[in-house]
Amino acid sequence: MNPKPKYDIALIGGGIMSATLATMLHEFDPNLEIVIFERLGAVGRESSSAWNNAGTGHSAFCELNYTPEKDGKIDISKAEYIAEQFEFSKQFWSYLIHKNIIENPKEFINSCPHMSFVFGQKDVDYLRKRHESMIKSPFFERMEFSDNHDILKDWVPLMMNKRMATDKLAATKMNLGTDVDFGKLTEKLFAHLEKTESVEVFTYHEVKDIDPTGDGNWNLQINDRKNLHKQTVEADFVFIGAGGYALPLLESSGIEESEGYGGFPVSGQWLVSDNPELIEKHHAKVYTQATVGAPPMSIPHLDLRIINGKKALLFGPFAGFSTKFLKEGSYLDLPESVNFKNIRSLFGAWWHNMPLTRYLIQQVAMTKSQRMSHLRDFIKDAKEEDWELKIAGQRVQIIKKDRFEGGRLEFGTEVVVNKDGNIASLLGASPGASTSAFAMIMVLEKCFGNRLENEWKEKLLEMIPTYGKKLAEYPELIKKVREYSKEKLELEY
Ligand SMILES: Cc1cc2nc3c(=O)[nH]c(=O)nc-3n(C[C@H](O)[C@H](O)[C@H](O)COP(=O)(O)OP(=O)(O)OC[C@H]3O[C@@H](n4cnc5c(N)ncnc54)[C@H](O)[C@@H]3O)c2cc1C
Repeated sequence: MNPKPKYDIALIGGGIMSATLATMLHEFDPNLEIVIFERLGAVGRESSSAWNNAGTGHSAFCELNYTPEKDGKIDISKAEYIAEQFEFSKQFWSYLIHKNIIENPKEFINSCPHMSFVFGQKDVDYLRKRHESMIKSPFFERMEFSDNHDILKDWVPLMMNKRMATDKLAATKMNLGTDVDFGKLTEKLFAHLEKTESVEVFTYHEVKDIDPTGDGNWNLQINDRKNLHKQTVEADFVFIGAGGYALPLLESSGIEESEGYGGFPVSGQWLVSDNPELIEKHHAKVYTQATVGAPPMSIPHLDLRIINGKKALLFGPFAGFSTKFLKEGSYLDLPESVNFKNIRSLFGAWWHNMPLTRYLIQQVAMTKSQRMSHLRDFIKDAKEEDWELKIAGQRVQIIKKDRFEGGRLEFGTEVVVNKDGNIASLLGASPGASTSAFAMIMVLEKCFGNRLENEWKEKLLEMIPTYGKKLAEYPELIKKVREYSKEKLELEY
């Protein structure tokens, strides 16, 4: 079957973002004719796939880069913002379970304590101070702190092996943390969408170009990679959820809002162990401080993963460099993305980020034994034969025009929408899949604001009951929604 010539909505990419947006739109208006194009043979195979990301349900419990120290004070505002976004996702997933849209939450989300672990007196002092600030917030009031070795042995036995009694160590622990298999969740959402009459999903279909029709709509040039068939499909609204490849597609649309953006790909690698003896002694996601020059997404962590019901340990990520924008992409992605409108931004960002370039070169050149020596900061007696190197997904960090520096490297996520609100794209990859519900609501606010505030409002509040409230100001509501999602998502804390 070939796609129809015209749809109301076209989504490009079969990752967690398109899956979330299509599910929301279908819930709001089941009559909307929606089409989703995915260039690979199945959905959820790029960044959203379980081993291509770390599966951390980012709630700012353990990521120290969300709580910088400024003038001797710990700023927790970003941490609260991230925590609130994850509560959006949990509410949305709870709604989907409640409505039987998806089933068996344990197949995609599991409780897993989130910990920050630090070494040395300076960082121990920082962590204590951070803990004192954080427990004042209703999002983090259940956070525990300890610098007592006996307690730390109980929390992370694998990491406490062979430590000296004099070692200055400390950790915080949040039992509310989660491990999420975003690939499985993507598959579940697509399985539901494909059962509906008004949503069509085409795999092996690559969108090559996006052009305005001249009467307010968009033409997508589609290439059927299996049957070598080309066709044009028209849509009233387009969402570019193509992950790392979103930027070239956005540029192809010619909208002025895309001008000046560039992309900087950073690949990742993990050390992975499935040794049951090690897994038995580590039941947490443990984040620490970044090394000098490292970008925020390369902060090392040692994680329990639960994928297809099987536990494993993951350490990393080690950053790498590749000119591909997708793991399954082309080495020409980066060179082809350079044009006269973004070359100044790209050069400026590179020039002002020399420590990052040095860091990436060092990371790429590392041998397995050098990677093992980083792991031994976490597990003193780690053995090389227990750990195998796996390739993670590609992230494309955004480069934005900057008046002073030419271009600036950004580590967040950005929703780009044209002035007519009929084409939208998500750029950047952090905090990522955890905030998919929040990010897609932002797309809806910008592009379907009127309908969201009026005819869709009741449904929206059913999906995300705390929508419109600044959660940090409602401690009782935080407790209530957490209890609700604990029950629906079968979490254990
Ligand atoms: C190393 C690493 C670790 C991460 N860790 C975490 C984490 O712990 N927690 C977290 O929340 N997030 C994490 N992330 C981020 C998270 O994985 C992403 O934010 C999220 O998966 C992005 O989803 P997406 O749907 O935008 O993109 P993707 O899942 O990449 O999906 C995009 C899809 O578009 C398709 N596509 C591309 N171009 C075209 C085209 N022209 N036509 C048709 N289809 C196309 C691709 O094949 C792909 O299937 C991590 C990412 C990486 C790389």
